Amino acid sequence: MEYIDLRSDTVTKPTPEMREAMAKAAVGDDVYGDDPTVNKLQEMAAGMLGKEDALFVPSGTMGNLLALLVHCQRGDEVIVGNKAHIYLNEVGGMSALGGIHPCPIQNQADGTLALDDILASIQTEDVHHTITRLICLENTQNVCGGVPLTPEYTRQVGELARKNNLSLHIDGARIFNAAVAQNVSVRELVDPADSVMFCLSKGLASPVGSMLVGTKKFIARARHLRKMLGGGMRQVGVLAAAGIISLEKMIERLDDDHARARKLSDGLKQVRGLVLDAGSPSTNMVYFNLSDDVRLSENQIVEMMNERGVLVDWSGVRRFRLVTHCWIDDQAVKRAVSALKEVLAH
Ligand SMILES: *Cc1c(COP(=O)(O)O)cnc(C)c1O
Repeated sequence: MEYIDLRSDTVTKPTPEMREAMAKAAVGDDVYGDDPTVNKLQEMAAGMLGKEDALFVPSGTMGNLLALLVHCQRGDEVIVGNKAHIYLNEVGGMSALGGIHPCPIQNQADGTLALDDILASIQTEDVHHTITRLICLENTQNVCGGVPLTPEYTRQVGELARKNNLSLHIDGARIFNAAVAQNVSVRELVDPADSVMFCLSKGLASPVGSMLVGTKKFIARARHLRKMLGGGMRQVGVLAAAGIISLEKMIERLDDDHARARKLSDGLKQVRGLVLDAGSPSTNMVYFNLSDDVRLSENQIVEMMNERGVLVDWSGVRRFRLVTHCWIDDQAVKRAVSALKEVLAH
C-alpha cells in the first residue's frame, strides 16, 4: 500500500530528476575542497541568500550547532525562543558540546520574540553574569504553527543586535517556505542575519543535507569545526547534486504545499472532534487539538489512521501536526480528511 505521509516534510524522497543528477554527479574529495558539485551548491546557496560563503552540512542540527560554536565561546549566552528547535529539539548540543548557556525567552503566538523581552534578557556587565553573544530566530517558526517571520521584524531584531554588539543567527530550516508564503526574496528575509542555516532535506525534497551561510571568515571557522564534529565528507557531490535541484526546481512550487495545507485545514474544520488553530495555515503545517469529547488517545488515532493508509504524528498532549509537501497531492488531502472523519466517528 502507498501511504499518505503527513508526519513531516522530511519524508520527501528524492525526485526522479534528483536521482539522475546524483548518478551523474562529478565528484571529488570535499575535505580537500575538491568536489565540484559541492562547490557549485555552496556558491549557489551563498548567492541566493546574499552572503559571502556557504557550507554543505549533513543536517540542520549540525548547521545550527556549528553557528553556535563559531559565534560563542564556552560560558557565553544565547537568547533563543522557548519554542525554538535549537532549544527543544537539538539534544542540548549547545550546552553539551559547546558549553554555551541558553537564555530561553517566550515565543509569541506569531513566532516572534518580543523586542522588549530580548532587550531585557541581554546580560549587563557584572562579575556574576555570563556574556550575551547571540540572538537566534527561527523562520518559519515550527511549533508556533509554521508561521513566517517578516523581513521588517527580522530587520528590527538585526538592528537591536547590532546596537548591543550581538550576532544574529537564523534557523531557517524552512526559510524558503517563509519567503514564498510572503512573496519576498529570501535575500531580503535574511539580510539582517550574520548567519543562516537552511535545510535541503525538508520541503525542498533532497535526501540529505543542509546549508550554513555567512561571511567567508565565519564559514572558514565553521568548516574547521565541521571536521571536528565528524562532518567532513568525501565524494559528497552525489548528495549536493540533489541539493542543486532543490534550489533550482523545488522552491517556487512550495506555494502548492501551502495551498494544500489550507485545503487540508478547511477540510478538517468540518470534522467533529478537531479544534483547528485559529487562522489559516500560512505555510505547510496544519495544527489541531482534540476536543474534550474525543475519547480516543493520540496513539489510537495514529494507529487507526495508519490502518487507513495515512501516516500522522501527534505533537503534544491531544495535539497533532500535519505537514504537506511535494508528495501530497489534492487526492491525498481528500483521503486524509475522510480518514480522520471516519476515525473520529468512533
Ligand atoms: C528540522 C529542523 C532543524 C534540524 O534539521 P535536521 O536536518 O533534522 O537536523 C532545525 N530547525 C528546525 C526549525 C527544523 O524544523
